Amino acid sequence: MKQKFSLLMVLCILTGIFGTIIGETTATEGIYVPGSYEVEAQGFGGAIKTVVTFDENNIKSVEVLENIETPGIGSTAIEEMPKAFVEANSAEVDSISGATITSLALKEAVSIAIKQAKGESDESIIMTDGVYEGTGPAYRGNVTLAVTVKDNAISAVEILESTDTYMIGVKAYKQLTEQIITHQSLGVDSISGATVSSNGFFAAMSDALSKAGADITALKAVSIEKRAPETTSFDSDILVIGGGMAGMTAAIQAADDGASVILIEKLGVFGGSTTRSEGYVMGAGTDYQKEQGVNDSADAFYKDIMSVYDIEPLLNADLIKKVIYDSADLITFLQENDVKFEKLVAVSTFEPRATPRNHCSANKGSGLTNALVANLEKKGVKVFMNTAATEIINQDGVVVGAKATNQFGDDITFNAKATILCAGSYGGNVEMMKKLNPNIVAESIKGSGDGDGFTLAENAGAKMLLLDYPQLQYYLFWDGIPKLPVYPASAIAPVKNILLTDGVGKRVANEADFNFEFIAKVYYSGQQEGYCIVGKDFYAQYPEVCEAGLGKTFPSRGDEIALKADTVEELAKWANLDPAILTETVNRYNELCDLGKDLDFNKDAQDMQRIDPPYYIMKLPAVVTDGYSGAVINENAQIIGVDDKPIPGFYAAGCCAVPEMSCVNYYGCGTSLMTCGVYGRAAAQHAVTYCLTK
Ligand SMILES: Cc1cc2nc3c(=O)[nH]c(=O)nc-3n(C[C@H](O)[C@H](O)[C@H](O)COP(=O)(O)OP(=O)(O)OC[C@H]3O[C@@H](n4cnc5c(N)ncnc54)[C@H](O)[C@@H]3O)c2cc1C
Repeated sequence: MKQKFSLLMVLCILTGIFGTIIGETTATEGIYVPGSYEVEAQGFGGAIKTVVTFDENNIKSVEVLENIETPGIGSTAIEEMPKAFVEANSAEVDSISGATITSLALKEAVSIAIKQAKGESDESIIMTDGVYEGTGPAYRGNVTLAVTVKDNAISAVEILESTDTYMIGVKAYKQLTEQIITHQSLGVDSISGATVSSNGFFAAMSDALSKAGADITALKAVSIEKRAPETTSFDSDILVIGGGMAGMTAAIQAADDGASVILIEKLGVFGGSTTRSEGYVMGAGTDYQKEQGVNDSADAFYKDIMSVYDIEPLLNADLIKKVIYDSADLITFLQENDVKFEKLVAVSTFEPRATPRNHCSANKGSGLTNALVANLEKKGVKVFMNTAATEIINQDGVVVGAKATNQFGDDITFNAKATILCAGSYGGNVEMMKKLNPNIVAESIKGSGDGDGFTLAENAGAKMLLLDYPQLQYYLFWDGIPKLPVYPASAIAPVKNILLTDGVGKRVANEADFNFEFIAKVYYSGQQEGYCIVGKDFYAQYPEVCEAGLGKTFPSRGDEIALKADTVEELAKWANLDPAILTETVNRYNELCDLGKDLDFNKDAQDMQRIDPPYYIMKLPAVVTDGYSGAVINENAQIIGVDDKPIPGFYAAGCCAVPEMSCVNYYGCGTSLMTCGVYGRAAAQHAVTYCLTK
């Protein structure tokens, strides 16, 4: 068996499969083959890409190219350890205390590079034939797999158990399996957009293969040949950038209308917000509502949404109107494209959100994406994965396609008569969020999208509208908060029998209503946080919620999270509130509880629970979940230029183009996917007509 492997090794060296080095290397009499070796290891936040450079006998430098480790923790290891590796000329250096996972990842990366530079990676891989099970922590739980080893090679991988989503995890597992079997290496890149799933898969593979007796470090050191970058170009009527709800609906509609369509997606899986979403899509007056006995209409929906959104000075009512009046047609379109809805729900039991308008996709966002991806293929849309638009081609004021690149670093030109930008939000780009919304003191920024949509549009001459507010919520949350049964003021696990106040200590909303009612009141109070106040009865029910923040500080903001006190005055002093205002708020709330009727905000009597000492006050910091600033579009989804005229050939839909359709008081989950779908289709319909003139 060893002999077979050695033959394979010789063949591989001849064909360059183990050619791990970036740039030139030289024959040597020393310990190492001089050169630079790129290695990826999994840190705390995700992949850490490292380049280690050797001369004949020494590690010359260790450079971290990419990482998303926690600032102030993992970043310390990233800053300090490279020098230590060089000084020690070894991977065996001290870890940085408090940054163990990052330190171990860096050490692993350097030891893999050392093995590669010594050319010893392959010989130590001796595996015993058999089928081995392994488990690793992936998305929402473990992934367990079975690896078959035959003739000292990985010949099959079967997923036995996984809690991951189909469109992200399962698709990533499939791609990783193919690559690992092809290259007989655990050094393959993780799938972009599926980092957590990839990490879990690698951990499970390592677990299984170590049972087969493999040297895991050596398996990771078997590097992959990357072909040289190429320059290519492709032509189509329509180019769609981004494979979320907006991009997929645009591409399918354009193909339905007879255009040739290319869709490019930056990630290795369809893993944008749409796939990660709950899959709720709003629609009014739909056939599905009729089947379920729900009496609704676009008129009623428009009236409801405008009763909430009317307060925004920058709102464009015509854009909203189009979304609402085209929403029923969107639901039909989705059903025709095999999206299955399993139920209808309302956002709240209170008006104006009490009508069941949310069409809930079976298997949530993953089910929605799965159906649409299948129809992209069915309808002949050419899809390029791992392909990111880098620049919109604007020739004399007319958009004629985009430049892009992929995992090989290719220089790709997509020539198109019309380009539809659907590259999503900047909600996951912390720096961009801070830059675009400097007035929000966020404890956590946890949206999704890296902001390419914003940047591509802006660089191509689009008129950008910057809003003062992103999508934000004030609720009991901080990164690292323990798992709790309820989270005061959250949308996901809310609780009703509490008192919520705005930033000055006044009760401003029904705590049982949709949480954005409360959020809007806090935001417009001009404060950076709200408060939750409870007493001994709530403590008896949820002690862990009351205690979660006691004696702790918010990791980002640095101030104390919660306090237990015997008097309301103490609460007020701690929170820097006017004691008279807070006392009046608590007294009034207790008075209404005793009365059994919420005369102020109409909360159900059963949720009116007195607040008696000892009291607990919890700060509800701003948690940012999405960005609203972006490109201005018209009702045809044409992008408006800085001269206030549509830019010919340039369209946008989805999260990168919603600034005139947003409100601090978000109407609710389901509004976003509806807006993406309506404007994705509108863009396609107008673009196809535009193409006929070209
Ligand atoms: C957890 C969660 C749950 C949600 N639930 C709901 C819900 O139930 N209902 C609802 O209405 N809204 C929901 N939302 C919001 C909703 O998911 C988004 O508003 C919507 O999916 C945005 O769609 P999109 O097409 O604009 O962007 P995305 O779905 O994010 O798609 C954009 C795509 O563009 C790709 N891309 C980015 N840059 C480039 C580039 N340079 N080149 C090529 N491709 C690029 C991205 O990789 C991505 O795949 C939820 C959001 C989250 C985070």
